[in-house]
Amino acid sequence: MSETSRNIVLSIRGVNKTFGGLKALSNIDLEIEEGKTHAIIGPNGAGKSTLLNTCIGRIRPDSGSIRFLDHDLTGGDMRPHDINQLGISRVFQTPEIFPELSLLNNVMIPAFAHKEGTFRFNPFSALRNEKAIEEEAMSLLEDFGMADQAHHHAGNLSRGNKRRLELAMCLIQHPKLLLLDEPTAGMARHDTNRTIELLKKIKQSGMTKVIIEHDMHVVFSLADRISVLAQGAIIAEGEPNEIKGHPKVREAYLGSAEI
Ligand code: ADP
Ligand code: MG
Repeated sequence: MSETSRNIVLSIRGVNKTFGGLKALSNIDLEIEEGKTHAIIGPNGAGKSTLLNTCIGRIRPDSGSIRFLDHDLTGGDMRPHDINQLGISRVFQTPEIFPELSLLNNVMIPAFAHKEGTFRFNPFSALRNEKAIEEEAMSLLEDFGMADQAHHHAGNLSRGNKRRLELAMCLIQHPKLLLLDEPTAGMARHDTNRTIELLKKIKQSGMTKVIIEHDMHVVFSLADRISVLAQGAIIAEGEPNEIKGHPKVREAYLGSAEI
């Protein structure tokens, strides 16, 4: 594809973030192309989660800009909820679900929050939508192999299933950009493989994704492009084959991961 026909969904320019004396992000430039799965890899403490947090308004960069489609995420007073409404959803490193509620209700809630803009939604318009949202939530749980547990408490799920539930909670919002922070962390191999299959399906739907991941099997199964972060800076970027043999990547990962 030529330079001019690339559609950039997310554009990060010169982003810096310091915590106390620690430079967590150092002059980050990154472009995420529409429909692609872009992986961000790097050792622990490299700044990967911080970078995603700047994209969803949880952390404000000290300098630099982040644009999502036509929106400037860093210039004004955008809060995480406003950014979510624009079409960015995120699976967190630690699952953020409602443990006391059923799986079905967990998946339905973000749809209401998204449509109505607040949890204190208008009960009349909510009632109108509720049936359709319930059907969609149920169908997502079916896709995720969790329909038989739809009415169980989410708090009783295994860690792997909690992470998949959170993914379903994102998908019901029909995001334009999905950000995944270590979606398979702590999962057993068979759970990881199920998640890879789900993410492949999402990829076929054309949704743009950024995925932070330690498991190189997951990265190389899914990524169209890979950026490598070390000590807050991007040290390499390219297609999976270029990254595999990159000397700087081998150096940054020495002893901490297989590439
Ligand atoms: P990664 O996700 O790549 O493991 P993080 O983005 O979580 O790395 O962290 C990058 C660095 O910034 C680490 O040294 C971490 O300790 C530090 N850090 C992250 N968040 C904060 C915070 N809220 N306050 C202070 N330091 C932080
Ligand atoms: Mg992290």
